[in-house]
Amino acid sequence: MLRQYELIEKVRAYDPDADEGLINRAYVFSMKAHGSQVRASGDPYFSHPIEVAGILTDLKLDDQTIVTAILHDTIEDTLATPEEIEKLFGKDIARLVDGVTKLSKIEAQSENERAAENLRKFLLALSDDIRVLLVKLADRLHNMRTLHHIADGDKRRRIAKETMDIYAPLAERIGMYEIMNEMQTLAFKELEPDAYASITRRLKLLHDQGGDIVSRIGLGLQLHLADNGLQAEVMGREKHPYSIWKKMAERHISFEQLSDVMAFRVIVNDEADVYRALGLIHRRWPMVPGRFKDFVSTPKRNGYRSVHTSVIHDAKMRIEIQIRARGMHEQAERGLAAHWAYKEGKPAADLHVPWIDDLVEILDHAESPEELLEHTRMAMYQDRIFAFTPKGELIQLPKGATPVDFAYAVHTALGDKTVGAKVNGRVVPLRTILENGD
Ligand code: MN
Repeated sequence: MLRQYELIEKVRAYDPDADEGLINRAYVFSMKAHGSQVRASGDPYFSHPIEVAGILTDLKLDDQTIVTAILHDTIEDTLATPEEIEKLFGKDIARLVDGVTKLSKIEAQSENERAAENLRKFLLALSDDIRVLLVKLADRLHNMRTLHHIADGDKRRRIAKETMDIYAPLAERIGMYEIMNEMQTLAFKELEPDAYASITRRLKLLHDQGGDIVSRIGLGLQLHLADNGLQAEVMGREKHPYSIWKKMAERHISFEQLSDVMAFRVIVNDEADVYRALGLIHRRWPMVPGRFKDFVSTPKRNGYRSVHTSVIHDAKMRIEIQIRARGMHEQAERGLAAHWAYKEGKPAADLHVPWIDDLVEILDHAESPEELLEHTRMAMYQDRIFAFTPKGELIQLPKGATPVDFAYAVHTALGDKTVGAKVNGRVVPLRTILENGD
């Protein structure tokens, strides 16, 4: 378990101005409140909120978020009251702890009973402050890391399924890919133990045969770029068992047919170098058609930027390559949390996440809890498209949008007067569904 001084050290390493006294008070308060409670692992219960706080220090979050993590289970599981929290730690932290507590209550109800009202209130609170969601995700991640201690198999599977269906997509949605990957791997191991074992066994076999192929290919990439005067950092990895399994299931292929189990990241200095690196790589190794995606010029809705391509490496193996500039990389690794990093000064309290607004909108109009959950899931997966004006300005639209929607998105007056449309140089009916990149 993380000790008090270790936690403080971790926070101070990225935020020298953090309120040490506040964190110390929360540590002692939570330790006393949880008292002799124990986890399924036999560890003192108190180790859990501290580990959750530890996960959030990896994301360099502010002292209020860290304190919220330390206190996140005190209202629900101990005698501590919201009034006490507010008196000791202030209004902001009381509000954050309250948000996390509300979400935990919803989680404890069976899926169909989850009260629409609670979920709605929670999401409203959330849309003001994404830190509630960050604490909840770290909480769930730690519970997944310790899932194997729970003896009841049905309970383990329920938690794993909920993680796969709700929390991993939420982490993805706000760009926290590392957390998403770890959640998926742990849930996959629980839900499909045979597939997990078989894939990890085959990956091991691949290692034993080829030695450290990943490093060799990575070094080759780096040298090729260096020979052409481009400085880059190359990191290689094997794909996670879950993403391998998903690909096998989607394409109905066996592990042997699945050739691209390795992925590489090329980190360069700036945006111009991203495209230089791309050119150098495509000229050296043929690219696999249909796999190229440019999220640098057209970022994903969660802000993710990177160029993705797959190439045939030395005439035999398909490898996946992501190319990005250093700043884009930091953003991708930590997602929204990057906005909270102290290197940029104080966290932006008004950080805006558009899809949460959509969700709140749906929640306000849904009739029953069931309908609401259905919509919530849809909202989480719903995708946006990007289209361009003739001058190249990016317009974000919901999937299914037509040229009329596009016109209105540009300007209301333009929408009102629209009588015809040209997409990619061709005259099309106004009811045409626009596609990404049109
Ligand atoms: Mn917890």
